Amino acid sequence: MKLVIFDIDGTLIESTAVDDACFLRAAEEVLGVRSPDADWANYPHCSDTGLVSELLRRYVGREARAEDVERFRQRFRALLEDAVRTQPSLFSPIPGIHELLERLAEREDIAVAVATGGFEVTARAKLDWACLPLQAHPAAFSEDGPSRESIVTAAVRRAGEAHGRTDFDRIISIGDGVWDVRTAASLGVGFVGRASADDADRLRREGAEMVISDYLDEPELLRTILAAATPDTRA
Ligand SMILES: [Mg+2]
Repeated sequence: MKLVIFDIDGTLIESTAVDDACFLRAAEEVLGVRSPDADWANYPHCSDTGLVSELLRRYVGREARAEDVERFRQRFRALLEDAVRTQPSLFSPIPGIHELLERLAEREDIAVAVATGGFEVTARAKLDWACLPLQAHPAAFSEDGPSRESIVTAAVRRAGEAHGRTDFDRIISIGDGVWDVRTAASLGVGFVGRASADDADRLRREGAEMVISDYLDEPELLRTILAAATPDTRA
C-alpha cells in the first residue's frame, strides 16, 4: 500500500493569501508583532505554533507561553471565520482536487492522509469551507509539531494505525511550501509540488522534480504521484 499525504493551505485549498493576512493580523493584535518578516521559509519551523513561538522570540524577546498560543489560536480562528463569512470563495479548492480524491478513494492500494502546519481547529474548518471529504482521514496538525518533520511523521504513524500496518511501500508528500520540499527530503519520502507558475521555480530550486499547478489531469497525476514515490520507505 502507498500513502499520499496532502498539505492543506496552497495544496488542497487556494487559501494562502487569506491565511497569511489573518495570521499577520492576529500576530499584531495578540502578540504585538507588527509587519514581521512574512516569508515563513525564513523561520525554523513553519507551523502555526512554531511561528508564534519564533515571532515572540524574535520581535518581543521572550518565550511563548501556552496562553499566548491559545489566545492567538482563538483570534486567528475568529479572523478566518470573518473572512469566509464575507467571501466564501477565499477558501476555494484547487481545481480538480475533488475528482482526484474520488479516484484515490477508489484505490485500495492507496491511503490518503493530511499533514498541515495549521492548528487543528482552523485546519478542520478550512476543509469544511472547501467541502473536502477528508475529516475522517488520518491527519496531523501544528499541535503535533512544531517541526514539519514531526507533523508528517505523526500523519504517517496515524495512517499506519488506521490501515493496520507498520509500513507503507511508498510515501508521497504533496505540498506547496519550500518547507514541504525540505521536510520530504529530510524524511526520505517522495514529493510532488503544487504551485502557480510564478512559484514553481522556488520549489524546483529547493529540489522538487515534479511541480503541478492543479489536479485537472487525474490519470496523468496518478502516474506522476506514484512515480514520485521513493522505494522502501518505512512508516
Ligand atoms: Mg501549504
